[in-house]
Amino acid sequence: MNVVIDLAYIAASILFIYGLKMLGRASTARRGNLVSASGMLLAVVATLFSAGIDFTWIVVGLVIGSAIGIIAARSVKMTQMPEMVALLNGSGGLASLLVGWAEYIHQPDAGAVTSIAIFFAVVIGGVALTGSVLAYAKLAERMPGRPIKFVGQQWVNALLLGAAVVLGLLFVLDPSSNYALLLIVIVLGLVLGVLAVLPIGGADMPIVIALMNSYSGIAASAAGFVIGNNVLIVAGSLVGASGLILTNIMCKAMNRSLANVLFSGFGSGATTRSAAVEGEAKPITAEDAYYVLEAASNVIFVPGYGMAVAQAQHVVKELADLLVANGAEVRYAIHPVAGRMPGHMNVLLAEANVPYEQLVEPEDVNPTMETVDIAVVIGANDVVNPSAREDPGSPLYGMPIINVDLARTAFVLKRSMSPGFSGVENPLFYKPNTRMLFGDAKASIGALVSQFKEAASG
Ligand code: NAP
Repeated sequence: MNVVIDLAYIAASILFIYGLKMLGRASTARRGNLVSASGMLLAVVATLFSAGIDFTWIVVGLVIGSAIGIIAARSVKMTQMPEMVALLNGSGGLASLLVGWAEYIHQPDAGAVTSIAIFFAVVIGGVALTGSVLAYAKLAERMPGRPIKFVGQQWVNALLLGAAVVLGLLFVLDPSSNYALLLIVIVLGLVLGVLAVLPIGGADMPIVIALMNSYSGIAASAAGFVIGNNVLIVAGSLVGASGLILTNIMCKAMNRSLANVLFSGFGSGATTRSAAVEGEAKPITAEDAYYVLEAASNVIFVPGYGMAVAQAQHVVKELADLLVANGAEVRYAIHPVAGRMPGHMNVLLAEANVPYEQLVEPEDVNPTMETVDIAVVIGANDVVNPSAREDPGSPLYGMPIINVDLARTAFVLKRSMSPGFSGVENPLFYKPNTRMLFGDAKASIGALVSQFKEAASG
């Protein structure tokens, strides 16, 4: 029987890895999700066939978990996904903490390897639990999103971490007579999670969530060592590694180091100015914008946070369809950190049924930007800020952007001249080939759609 279970675990691990790989492309992401979920189903069923399982508690857990899942699936809106992911990561951390703790109670003298794994499961699980709950509270505005700092905070954190490691070491040396030490280590892990996330601004929470996701995976992997379950070790490692990769991608796309995100208190309200921006912003009306678009044969949409705020994705798709019907080639350039969560734009555009093949990445579209007739910037700001390329004094300098300023014409749709998330002024608005279409993005795009429809009917 054990051989069959091990084979099922290997098959499940392969499905996880293939599923993850498929998640890397928008066109295969849905199938990737299904492949990974099948792997999880296989792993769960195989585990249920292991010897010595008491089904009473499993049924209780299944009922409670399913009830929470059904309520969450019905009540959580797409825009609340980051909060939900934060809570799910926290649950993963809690589960690993409880597995480590319960296994110790069950078997206090299980040997050095298990005790080390228990230590990692409870500490990292504890950090993932409270860190994720705090990230949730900041994102959901249940507490102030600004960085909360106090003097010597990093020293206190280092001290607590050092204490957890020393106490953990003492615990591992003689686990059976050191239950009190394990309890203190659990408390230290929980406190560390709170203290680590407190000084991070609400806007950086998506990165914190990706990091907590990674921590919950590492804790799960440690829990796998605690109970000797191979598939949990593999799945936890995959989550740990992919969470770290996502954290790294987001930091790079924002041109910031992880240390800067974790320790700088970014978002404390200070706005940053780069070199003086020169020139005059030139507004355009929807009617004039229509005439230019009507004559265009190559159009790129660059959506950003403002499209999410305006919920303009459906009307954007409508405009794209009209442009295609008019003979233009239309593509959507998606920046990895556009919006406020990983994949934010992809989710919105998928909701509006935008075909995957129209989505392009910055590195694919930038080399041919000079051939684009019109780049329509829909509520994006930082991700199209040319000072990232041109101004070594800018805080954005070095950040990869979508070079809409190199297109023949750029339309910028936003409500005012105010800066984006980074607080950095945007010279794009003052470039000779830029026209500002002021107003709510949904209303502006809606006006363009009306122009096309009127022209078609008249
Ligand atoms: P952005 O730089 O924050 O700019 C968004 C723009 O949308 C604003 O300038 C705003 O201008 C406009 N806007 C807001 N509501 C609008 C509406 N109803 N209609 C039209 N325009 C509207 O956005 P971004 O270019 O997408 O860049 C994302 C930023 O967030 C980056 O700095 C990134 O590093 C950061 N970030 C991203 C993530 C992530 O996971 N994606 C996570 C954390 C931080 P007005 O007020 O003038 O309208």
